[in-house]
Amino acid sequence: MARSVLVINSGSSSLKYAIIEPDSETMVVDGIVERIGEGQVRDHAEALQTAFDQMAESGRPPDSLDLVAVGHRVVHGGPDIYRPTLIDDALVAKIGELCPLAPLHNPPALLGIEEARKALPDLPHVAVFDTAFFHDLPPAAATYAIDKDVAAQWHIRRYGFHGTSHEYVSEQAAAFVGVPLDSARQIVLHLGNGASASAIVGGRPVDTSMGLTPMEGLVMGTRSGDIDPGVLFYLRRNANMSVEDIEEMLNRRSGVLGLGGEIDFRVLHQRIESGDAAAQLAYDVYIHRLRKYIGAYLALLGSADVVTFTAGVGENDAAVRRDALTGMAPLGIELDEQLNESADRTTRRISADNSPTTVLVVPTDEELAIARACAHLVER
Ligand code: ADP
Repeated sequence: MARSVLVINSGSSSLKYAIIEPDSETMVVDGIVERIGEGQVRDHAEALQTAFDQMAESGRPPDSLDLVAVGHRVVHGGPDIYRPTLIDDALVAKIGELCPLAPLHNPPALLGIEEARKALPDLPHVAVFDTAFFHDLPPAAATYAIDKDVAAQWHIRRYGFHGTSHEYVSEQAAAFVGVPLDSARQIVLHLGNGASASAIVGGRPVDTSMGLTPMEGLVMGTRSGDIDPGVLFYLRRNANMSVEDIEEMLNRRSGVLGLGGEIDFRVLHQRIESGDAAAQLAYDVYIHRLRKYIGAYLALLGSADVVTFTAGVGENDAAVRRDALTGMAPLGIELDEQLNESADRTTRRISADNSPTTVLVVPTDEELAIARACAHLVER
């Protein structure tokens, strides 16, 4: 039996799971338990039990497989932890201490870890951090221009997130184009519900759009991305909103949803077609921000060998890709309209033959990357 890894990704109201054989890159089973806390599934403990039931129903209960590890996606590793790390009580405590830095993300991950350790006590559990790839971001990119003593005392820096995806996708992209990873200049656009951009040189990030938290940068499904911090103080002082109210609004009721009333880009396009001005504005704001980041990263890199789109919107939405890059021929980027519209869902080129920058669509696979990292760690 081939060795496999159970990957668990505990979000605020969902738990995604997958069993993967990292050597053959085979996904044995995967699924998602949603609406945790809203009814049938009361908490992450029950969600994990539901996940095990689903695996058993699909004929793949975890105990029938040669599991060598359980991998947990953890969003925030703080200033010190970033490598894939074996989970013990001390690490659990450390991730708990980081909850103030990631109040929406680390608590559900901790619940998932604790339940999975109880359910599968004999297996090594490994934490893989979303911040890892960006740990060595150059100081000029990682540093906020605020009082340096306050920043040091409170560990305030730009951490970056979606690191597992940016790393995996940039490796895939370099291999696909046939440029050596250690010299390639790349821009990766991870556009899912959360969205982030990164500029990468030689396999190392030189900038990324998310910061202390996953709220900075691009406009997202429900998050504002970049915003003048003055807006927060203004609301706190004048709108009778608590810090929690403001945080909730910026995380859950902003972005494309906040402007256009819809999070799913397929529906957003339908609304635009039917003349919905709010949906149109939401889309325009989204594209405007995306183009600003692409331009900024081209300036940082001088020019790019590869620009890659990934995640739900990036992989599937040809209109977003077209509107993000139109008019950039003078910057070396020219799309092939037909390739961009292709129904192919595998890694593919969508730039014109003569485009100096190659534009790709690369399906991300964070679960596979996590499974590989876990297998690598436990076999040493
Ligand atoms: P998450 O950040 O939750 O992992 P995903 O990367 O799965 O998100 O992206 C989910 C989003 O992708 C959906 O909200 C939707 O807007 C978008 N999406 C998915 N499929 C399509 C499609 N065929 N066309 C356009 N957008 C899509």
